[in-house]
Amino acid sequence: MKHIKKRKTRFILILCLLLIIGFSSISFVSYFVANNSLNQYIRANTLPLTSDNIYSEIQRDVLPTVIISSLMAQDTFVRDWILDGEQNIDQITNYLLSIQQRYKTETAFFISDDTRNYYHSTGLIKQVSINNSADDWYFLISGSQDNYDINVDIDAVDKQKTNIFINYKIFDYNGGYLGIIGVGLSSERVKELIEYYQTSYNSQVYFADLTGQVTLSHKQLTTLPNLHQSEGISDIADEILQSPSGSFTYMRQEQEVFLNTRFVPELGWYLLVEQIGKPEAHIQKTLWINLFVSFIITTLVLILGNLTIRKYQHRLIMMATHDKLTGINNRHGFEPILTQSIKIAARNKQALSMVLVDIDHFKAINDQYGHISGDTILTQFAETLSQNLRDSDSLCRWGGEEFIFLLADCNAGNAMHLAEKIRLAINATPFEINGEKIIVSASFGLSQYIIGESKDKLIARADSALYRAKTQGRNCVEQA
Ligand code: GH3
Ligand code: MG
Ligand code: MG
Repeated sequence: MKHIKKRKTRFILILCLLLIIGFSSISFVSYFVANNSLNQYIRANTLPLTSDNIYSEIQRDVLPTVIISSLMAQDTFVRDWILDGEQNIDQITNYLLSIQQRYKTETAFFISDDTRNYYHSTGLIKQVSINNSADDWYFLISGSQDNYDINVDIDAVDKQKTNIFINYKIFDYNGGYLGIIGVGLSSERVKELIEYYQTSYNSQVYFADLTGQVTLSHKQLTTLPNLHQSEGISDIADEILQSPSGSFTYMRQEQEVFLNTRFVPELGWYLLVEQIGKPEAHIQKTLWINLFVSFIITTLVLILGNLTIRKYQHRLIMMATHDKLTGINNRHGFEPILTQSIKIAARNKQALSMVLVDIDHFKAINDQYGHISGDTILTQFAETLSQNLRDSDSLCRWGGEEFIFLLADCNAGNAMHLAEKIRLAINATPFEINGEKIIVSASFGLSQYIIGESKDKLIARADSALYRAKTQGRNCVEQA
């Protein structure tokens, strides 16, 4: 019986393991598949679309200002005024103010290369100097090959503001360098745009120039990084800066980041839009729900399985230890009871008696009334025996038409008495078969347990007593 229980535990464990492996692998596989396809979708659709939208908004805002600056650089009035020796400051101031008002720019300016004067829509505000690091931009652009440059810098008047300056070189009619002219655009507008896209698309938006230097991001960074020095992105910086547009994936702080890049020629900058490929909350929630449902099902299956197995196990044990016909213990079921009873009797120094009963001439009954009637008599016989025994006594069908009963705390004298009582009860109550009354008798062999003897010896002694009862004419009780 122990090995049946062990097998049951093993079976339940295997079932549990299979369910857990099965359910969790299905849950995790679908989680990763969903996550992957979502990431794929971000990379292939969402990100390029976001990038496209931002790109066109930027173009719409910036392109006109580039054209305005270019026209200012071509203006004959400005050139004549410079060539005339920058006489009337009001004239240039009014010109810059009218540009600023008409095109709603943040600022309008002209820096003369001859006088180093910085003219602004509010007047002559300062002189640029090679010794002032704030004016470095002027000398950088003056010395460069390009005719125009865009840079983000602090406003010349309101130091709290940053502007996007569109700087155009202005030349005289013979191509002589005169200075830099242009307008400034509030970087707030672009930053708002960046913020808007960041929140609505849950992505990071920023710009970098041709050297990889980040020029503009949603945050007011004091020191903007260079792509070549940024974590993860540094490995692909060259690749980004060499192609007009591209899709990249890189790792930052152990997270997968999808990056979409494109060059904005009007700005001379790269637009970078990136999104972290982190697991989506709702997919994660689905995983938890799946795992929870799996857990519930596993528990239910285990409970049901356990109950079913227990039921069948009980049935199996009953089948193995009980006689099908009479429902009492069979030899297999009786053996442990006998062993246990002997142990108890020995420990408590109590008497223990065994009575072996065999129905007389049962073969003849079978022959006369048929096997089925014989079975009915066997069942009724067992019932009669059981009715005459105490709860503490045990009854067993030893074989064929032989029965054993074990009498706890009972010596041979009392056993003799009881056996005699049962023998007389059997004689007195005829068995009824198809309305016909059949008188049956039985012979009894009795033995009392002697401390130290084996159970086989105890049985053998009862058996030889029974044999004596048979040879002495049957329907009697004999003691070993
Ligand atoms: P005795 O008085 O010497 O015990 O004679 P007997 O005929 O009872 O003994 P024997 O051992 O010769 O015959 C026992 C018979 O019991 C033979 C067998 O067919 C019958 N028998 C054994 N088991 C069953 C059973 O389950 N059902 C029925 N109907 N008969 C059984
Ligand atoms: Mg027999
Ligand atoms: Mg018999």
